[in-house]
Amino acid sequence: MTTSIEWTRPPGYKGEAWNPTTGCSHVSSGCDNCYAARQAHRGLCEAHVGLTVMGEQGPLAGRPIFNGKVKLHGDRLDIPLRWRDPRCVFVDSMSDLFHEAVPFDFIDQVFAVMALTPKHRYIILTKRPLQMSRYISKREPSSRQLLPKARRRVEVIMRIGRARGNRAVRIEDTPDLAAAERHPRRVGRGPGDSE
Ligand code: SF4
Repeated sequence: MTTSIEWTRPPGYKGEAWNPTTGCSHVSSGCDNCYAARQAHRGLCEAHVGLTVMGEQGPLAGRPIFNGKVKLHGDRLDIPLRWRDPRCVFVDSMSDLFHEAVPFDFIDQVFAVMALTPKHRYIILTKRPLQMSRYISKREPSSRQLLPKARRRVEVIMRIGRARGNRAVRIEDTPDLAAAERHPRRVGRGPGDSE
């Protein structure tokens, strides 16, 4: 699905959203205005149905929020292999790839596709940096051929919470989250920040 999000359209790239998973759950105050949950609540395609409820308390009252269910879409994994022009790809605009319900084996497949498509750039937004660190450290010994190739073209943007702002890092740096915090680069809006 093409997207007009500004930061997915650097010179020479078409902007694209690729959702191998859909669904999520509220993890921090940065999720209070989750654009993805509002979109999913409209239920415009099967991949979005049954993923949301209406919030009942506090700042979430009366707002659609994700209910914690995550759908894996194996049939979408090969989509980037079919794009002929270079794309800048927002991975999981309707989810969080590092949600606890996404098996590491499935994340492996997403990384395999990224490694196989060097003409594209990939951006992953996550609010789960610790789960991402767990994934990277667990996969490091067994995936030496694959992960380095994918890592070089993947940028991960950690949106930890509104108060702390956003941090953009190369995924190869992610085991050292403290370093990422020391060298922040502010980035534009994403699903959790859209009003
Ligand atoms: S803002 Fe991101 S992490 Fe939070 S509920 Fe929405 S998709 Fe999930």
